[in-house]
Amino acid sequence: MHIQELVAVLEAQHIAGGHNANIKKLVFDSRKATGSDDELFIALKGLHHDGHQFLAQAHATGIRNFLLSSKADLPESNQIIVPNTLTALQSLASKHRLQHTYPVVGITGSNAKTIVKEWLSTLLSQKWQVVKSPKSYNSQLGVPLSVWEMNDQHEIAVFEAGISASGEMQNLQQVIRPTMGIFTNIGEAHAAGFANQAQKSREKALLFSTAENVIYRYSHHIVGDALTYHQHPATSWDIHCPEAAINFEVQGSTYRCTYQGKSLKLNIRWTNAWDIENLLHAVVAAWLLGESPEEIQRGIDSLKPVPMRLELKRGRNHTHILDDTYNNDLQGLSTALDYLKQQPAQKQRTVILSDILQSGKEPTALYQEVNTLLKNHEISRLIGVGSALQKHQHLFEIPSTTYSTVDDLLRATPHFGQETILVKGARDFGLEKVVRYLEEKSHGTVLEVNFESIQHNLSVYRQYLQPGTKLMVMVKAFAYGVGTEEIANLLQYHQVDYLGVAYLDEAIALRESGIQLPIMIMNVSWEHFELLSTFRLEPEIYSLSMLKHYLEVCPDPMPIHLKIETGMNRLGFEYEELSEVITLLKANPSIKVAGVFTHFSSADSQEEDGYTQQQGERFEKACQLLSNALNYAPLRYAVNSAGIIRWPQYHFDMVRLGIGLYGFDSSGSTQALRPISTLKTRISQIKKLPAGATVGYSRKGKITQPSEIATIAIGYADGYSRLFGNGNAYVLINGQKAYTIGNVCMDMTMVDVTGLNVKAGDEVIVFGEDPSIADLARWSQTIPYEILTNVSQRVKRVFVSE
Ligand SMILES: *Cc1c(COP(=O)(O)O)cnc(C)c1O
Repeated sequence: MHIQELVAVLEAQHIAGGHNANIKKLVFDSRKATGSDDELFIALKGLHHDGHQFLAQAHATGIRNFLLSSKADLPESNQIIVPNTLTALQSLASKHRLQHTYPVVGITGSNAKTIVKEWLSTLLSQKWQVVKSPKSYNSQLGVPLSVWEMNDQHEIAVFEAGISASGEMQNLQQVIRPTMGIFTNIGEAHAAGFANQAQKSREKALLFSTAENVIYRYSHHIVGDALTYHQHPATSWDIHCPEAAINFEVQGSTYRCTYQGKSLKLNIRWTNAWDIENLLHAVVAAWLLGESPEEIQRGIDSLKPVPMRLELKRGRNHTHILDDTYNNDLQGLSTALDYLKQQPAQKQRTVILSDILQSGKEPTALYQEVNTLLKNHEISRLIGVGSALQKHQHLFEIPSTTYSTVDDLLRATPHFGQETILVKGARDFGLEKVVRYLEEKSHGTVLEVNFESIQHNLSVYRQYLQPGTKLMVMVKAFAYGVGTEEIANLLQYHQVDYLGVAYLDEAIALRESGIQLPIMIMNVSWEHFELLSTFRLEPEIYSLSMLKHYLEVCPDPMPIHLKIETGMNRLGFEYEELSEVITLLKANPSIKVAGVFTHFSSADSQEEDGYTQQQGERFEKACQLLSNALNYAPLRYAVNSAGIIRWPQYHFDMVRLGIGLYGFDSSGSTQALRPISTLKTRISQIKKLPAGATVGYSRKGKITQPSEIATIAIGYADGYSRLFGNGNAYVLINGQKAYTIGNVCMDMTMVDVTGLNVKAGDEVIVFGEDPSIADLARWSQTIPYEILTNVSQRVKRVFVSE
């Protein structure tokens, strides 16, 4: 869309930049801009970010087209000024939608929108060129961005739409204007924004006002009622249910139905009822859209019953691996490359890619497009696997090597180091072998960390802050046992203000992995002071002798943080020492006090609120004294996670978030946090034991009736305390509790699985949703902090993004 046209559609004020660009790409995060002249930067106002604050950065990347809600100083740029940039974006997308006349499927419902969208897209791509929402783009922002992807090469579109409050669906309807709908189901999710389920259902059904047909499952009566209420034309389906318009008869793995004189017979090997429901939504839609049973079957056979996700793993030799070996289409590649770009810029970025199958594009055009994507994402080298990539290697303008198979690639034992490697390929190519080659740890026990949950917890805490209050996040002790580098990188991406660590080596590791944020260190050993400037690190100074030593050995000192003792009685200056501190500071004007802080001993405990208040008052008094003496105002900060929630009057200029980010609410006052990590292992072996047998060291596990005992691959060397032994803890296997039996060993533990119908190789949840870290803490008489930080470094970390 040309700028002039855009201005006309939006009826906006235009400050011309002297060129009429043709806008193809919408950018709302300056870090994702490439600076080409077909990009439009949209400054969106969110809860905590305002895109208008990043205009200079966007301009610096080369962007010269801006959609803004107020005029800015941006030389040589087109500025389009509108009252609300999100509404404007929706209008643009809506206009863009109307330029395309091919079928558009809109999917809504409480659950499973993304998976139904993904599966339907795979089924449809057997016959047509499909455009679909990236990831779970189903919001007021995600939907217009998805619809913007539509172009003339596509033949069919699949978009999902989600709402959390009354009144939102009309906007999304205007943007998507589906010609066919799928209403997946109605559950309890997001119930808060609605009066009741029927009302929620009717609101969601507003998506379908232009749809010629809406597909739903007959037994979801609330859905059917809502469609009837709006008089939307609809087609129901169900299993063994003659009342449904399309009734599947199932025998073993064979699914049959007839509808309007046509019949469909499919082979579906899956058994999980939930997967089957989601799959049949997609099957019915594809069939009614005109796909043949053969094409649908081919699509089903290529599906994977696991949601699409990206996994970030640590590789050997300071590498990170972004494991995306499930599918390989252009859009998925583009999503994965965006994600790769969020990794630290210091590291080289390598892409290992297989041939892209079934793109429907002519190979030269396809790989030219891949080349452009790789170049725009600043990829340093490409390693290609497959004959098509071999044949088209000359199209790539970045250094590249190609192999015809994965085995050829592995035989060449390529060297990797200090880089982030995206491994992406169609399933048939077996690129998971490459991942195994690159991985640092092959131990079967994994701490799986969910990046979305961390982001969620971060936003929960941000909601407690006044605008302008800064946020320091504590990433000490390997980020509470989770993984310092990965967490810090995520936090840098989400623009927290400071990181806090306990020791110098933790901070240096952060700098070496490309973290630029200010870092405060609580306990620097005095012999290492000179390294602080080298790595731009700000120390906590807690005593007069420490301050003097710092002044002595650091000619060019980094700003410091003064720790004030107010009642924790651990580290810090007494009030009485501050006058001498002031004298020293005045005599050494080169040193700057970046912050003044204290730590409350009992911010989480109601019984000690009087004491906390006393600490707060002492701190205020100390701050007063210091800021009167210095002629500038250092950042004042005092509270930890519990204090953020319980002590808003003591937020001062900054807060220190710790355990809350990692999913545990130490204040006991919010249910909103999500567990961020799941410790998983596997069953190594199962033994059938008769009454009278014993299990493990010292014969502590006594068998009183015939039992099945599973050995699982985790022990106290992994951080699974011996206190969990002898029935004091359970693990979850296929959703069932299995209690420990006998003593926990160094590398293994035995659990009782009698009657649970489990087998060797099954996954075992040690902690996560259930049992939670709080459960494990209770069972071993400690606190969740210790459960988290105890997970040994030998356990593999995998960071998941959905
Ligand atoms: C660890 C730590 C925090 C974070 O505490 P949480 O209870 O985990 O939020 C804050 N301040 C200091 C000084 C700490 O050592």
